[in-house]
Amino acid sequence: MPILRYAVLGHPVAHSLSPRIHAEFGRQLSIALDYSAIDADADEFDNALAAFAASGGVGANITLPHKQRAAAACETLSDRARRAGAANTLARGATGWHGDNTDGVGLVRDLTGRHALDLRARRTLLIGAGGAARGVAPALLDAGIGDLFIANRSADRADALADALAQPGRVHPRYLDDLRALGEFDLIVNATSAARDGGLPALPMSLVGKRTAAVDLSYGEVAIPFLAWARAAGAHDAIDGLGMLVEQAAESFALWHGKRPDTDPVYEQLIEHRAALVTA
Ligand code: NDP
Repeated sequence: MPILRYAVLGHPVAHSLSPRIHAEFGRQLSIALDYSAIDADADEFDNALAAFAASGGVGANITLPHKQRAAAACETLSDRARRAGAANTLARGATGWHGDNTDGVGLVRDLTGRHALDLRARRTLLIGAGGAARGVAPALLDAGIGDLFIANRSADRADALADALAQPGRVHPRYLDDLRALGEFDLIVNATSAARDGGLPALPMSLVGKRTAAVDLSYGEVAIPFLAWARAAGAHDAIDGLGMLVEQAAESFALWHGKRPDTDPVYEQLIEHRAALVTA
């Protein structure tokens, strides 16, 4: 049987852990697969995806900054990808790509499972409104959080995400510069890529209370400034995105192969080298 071809497409993508994680899952479940990383910037994305399909690619993960673009390129979308307006998992059908979004379920599984957090009724601040924020917001709402405030540097993107979530009494878009008056949150999720290009936005410590769980979707060095801010502000939990990464990958793997891998051994391997990991 020919080896099945998969890839992660993003920019930059050289440090992506997805090829390593999917190779481990494949070994665990005795599934032979070829999973590579394809670097494509915004101008190259559509051609790169078409070339991958033409070369026999049957499944793709999509990472920053292409998740919204990928959703638009799909012939069909799952309900959660449609609600997110962003796709991180593509499966090749007879006539085009089917897009799904496993980021949200990955985050919720990590927080409620590995970190044993009860998300219900948590007053939540989501910082960022890019592809990752779009994936996690519907899943957090479905998991039963309380009010959701979305703060983004570009206010129009926070407004657009709030509109897409269509729960006006519960979801509140805000300017990133406008957080001081909002009081404490039980859950703060940093879904920006800010720390990659020059550092965190200024976040008031008054956002954090004694029971606050602070979560950065990135990991390795990139997550350090936000997690250090959260600890200094007195957060109860400071959690990086490594567990989410492994959980969203397992969900993609299950969609492609119909079998769910055990995520714990792969997570344990990765945390041994946590500080040296580069978010991709
Ligand atoms: P996008 O490029 O789609 O969005 C980036 C977001 O960061 C936007 O909201 C953008 O704001 C904001 N941002 C960027 N620079 C700054 C800055 N200097 N100050 C304030 N805000 C800024 O990226 P993604 O949403 O795909 O990814 C976001 C992060 O989440 C990345 O670090 C990524 O690695 C991580 N991630 C982790 C996953 C995991 O499994 N652990 C899965 C998915 C993502 P604006 O709209 O104004 O440009």
